[in-house]
Amino acid sequence: MTEKLFYRDPYLREAKAKITGVEVKGKRVRLTLDRTIFYPEGGGQPSDRGRIEGNGFAVRVEKVTGKDEVFHEGSLKGRTPEVGEEVRLLLDWEWRYENMRAHTGQHVLSAVIKGLQGAETTGFQIFPEYNKIEIDYPGELKWEDVLEIERKTNEVIWGDLPVEVEVYGELPDELKALLRKDVSSKVKPPIRIVRIGTVDVTPCGGTHVKSTGEIGFLKVIRVYRKSRKLLRIEFATGVRALKYLNGLLEDYWNALNKMPNKNRPLVERVEELKGEIEGLEAEKDSLRRELWEWKAKALLKDAEEIGGVRVVAHVESSPMKDAQAFSINFVDKNPETVVILAGQNYVILAKNRGVGLDMREVLREVLSRVGGGGGGSETLARGGGFKERPEKVLEVALGAIRERLGRASS
Ligand SMILES: [Zn+2]
Repeated sequence: MTEKLFYRDPYLREAKAKITGVEVKGKRVRLTLDRTIFYPEGGGQPSDRGRIEGNGFAVRVEKVTGKDEVFHEGSLKGRTPEVGEEVRLLLDWEWRYENMRAHTGQHVLSAVIKGLQGAETTGFQIFPEYNKIEIDYPGELKWEDVLEIERKTNEVIWGDLPVEVEVYGELPDELKALLRKDVSSKVKPPIRIVRIGTVDVTPCGGTHVKSTGEIGFLKVIRVYRKSRKLLRIEFATGVRALKYLNGLLEDYWNALNKMPNKNRPLVERVEELKGEIEGLEAEKDSLRRELWEWKAKALLKDAEEIGGVRVVAHVESSPMKDAQAFSINFVDKNPETVVILAGQNYVILAKNRGVGLDMREVLREVLSRVGGGGGGSETLARGGGFKERPEKVLEVALGAIRERLGRASS
């Protein structure tokens, strides 16, 4: 059983302890101590970080686990520590302090949400940059409700209320009635109760600041539905909240600076750009239609007439999607026409509805000569995956059409 100094004084950054157990795996070591200032991960609060220093060795503590017995894991520098040796414990205070701010902030936030919305907090997790809670709330939470929650939470924070921890072997009934949430059946005495002024009384085994003013401020970052019942709320406190907001501001100003018009707000600039893109798309579309008309005229000039049908054959440089759109438009607008477009590893065979040909049959014959696969309808067929160059595919397709049209007209 490790003596937990962080419960006696969560502001203890340094202490002396004796090694009670050593496990070594290469450059990794796992130590147990008679007492510790390192909080083991649990209750949504991540484990502490820091250093354990001895005579001739140092451990960079990266992971702390365990309940009764606390295990300190990390990389070892120097010789192997031995049981019974005295060591110095040094906490990564910035990390711990921000965790304490976040944890205490969560108590206030959860209490305010319960007061305003009547919703229970069912989950909590601290991350290096922000935190999240889950609340049992199937209803709709509007952004103005979120802002009201945030405002009330910060009022409690700025009111600088005392945060007191009481320890009980067994909870008195009148205290049980005050609790925001029941004590988990897994918790063995001593039971730790965290009381924040008249705002919140709740059982908790984490580390907390001694007054709400130390939280600094709390910012809700994002709210979204996690399941039908649960709503997730992301938030940040203290220095982490400031860093998070600065990250957003940096993103905002960088984005605005890239705009042709740099006057805020950004959303108006984005709307302008969207409008411009739509205009360009429409312009592109009309230019394409115009290009198609000219292209159709040029192709028809060189068309080969077989039995009253004008057959257009062309090696195409545009992508298949564009070529197909052109073919459909072309045969639709020009009666008694057939078009063959052979491009980079594709062929498109299209005909005007009035022409007595099945393009699938033509394609099948082409594929039997040049390989590959494809399919389509009577009026439009498409193939690809050939072993031959587009010029060759075109020649084969033209041959197949000549033969069929010639046969039909004779
Ligand atoms: Zn707590």
